[in-house]
Amino acid sequence: MKNRLLSFLISTCLAIAFSFVNANELPDELNAPGGVVIIPINSKDRPKAFFYDKRVLVIGESQNWKAIIGIPLKIELGEHKLKVVSNGVEANYLFEVVGKAYEAQYLTIKNKRQVNPNKEDMLRITRERKLISKAKINWREIDNVPLRFIKPAKGPFSSSFGLRRFFNNQPRNPHSGLDIAAETGTPIVAPAAGIVTNAGDYFFNGKTVFLDHGQGLITMYCHMENISVEEGDIVDVNDLLGTIGSTGRVTGAHLHWSVILNNTTVEPLLFLKAE
Ligand code: ZN
Repeated sequence: MKNRLLSFLISTCLAIAFSFVNANELPDELNAPGGVVIIPINSKDRPKAFFYDKRVLVIGESQNWKAIIGIPLKIELGEHKLKVVSNGVEANYLFEVVGKAYEAQYLTIKNKRQVNPNKEDMLRITRERKLISKAKINWREIDNVPLRFIKPAKGPFSSSFGLRRFFNNQPRNPHSGLDIAAETGTPIVAPAAGIVTNAGDYFFNGKTVFLDHGQGLITMYCHMENISVEEGDIVDVNDLLGTIGSTGRVTGAHLHWSVILNNTTVEPLLFLKAE
């Protein structure tokens, strides 16, 4: 009896210890374009941090805060600074961004209108860009932001983040997400708890869902076949968002998954839990 009680106590303590560790799990660090930099901040009260005037995610507790900064793919290499305001005092924390070579990718898009949209398409694209920008910059003030994700769909990674892209030999923006290739209809689930801040059908991105995980950590799911959630829905980890499809500008069925921090798309692999 005593032994059973002891083992129950030990397992309970372990469960509490593990849940504490999990709640504070950080993403992997990569101080390069498209990466994530973590800066410890010593402050009594919760500090506010800014990177090029954009609010930066901060987690932790008194005297032990950490700023989690998303580094843009298009950034000058060298020294950069995080501006921190704590207890009414402003300070700069310096850090280094080093180079990372991203491969080039050449894609052939058969629908020429999707590479060189016409006038009418351009009006639609401009309209949609505003909605997409708004969803990417959303700030929701919560303390415990989930910083480790499960994979949002089953299937192999088919196109990595950061590839320098050419559509029909024309240079375009680098690949802003990680692609998971799977058959149309494959479920897409929330990689962590969040709120649906946008669900729509867009010219390039096709059927798309934005999930807000708090403090500017936002994930985006594109080219979906069906969307099972709507704006305002609160989702938990592993809740169904919809299914993989081939809507928008694609060469085949896949999920394009983007992770956004301080309005910057970063490498999703840095947030994935080991399987
Ligand atoms: Zn993609």
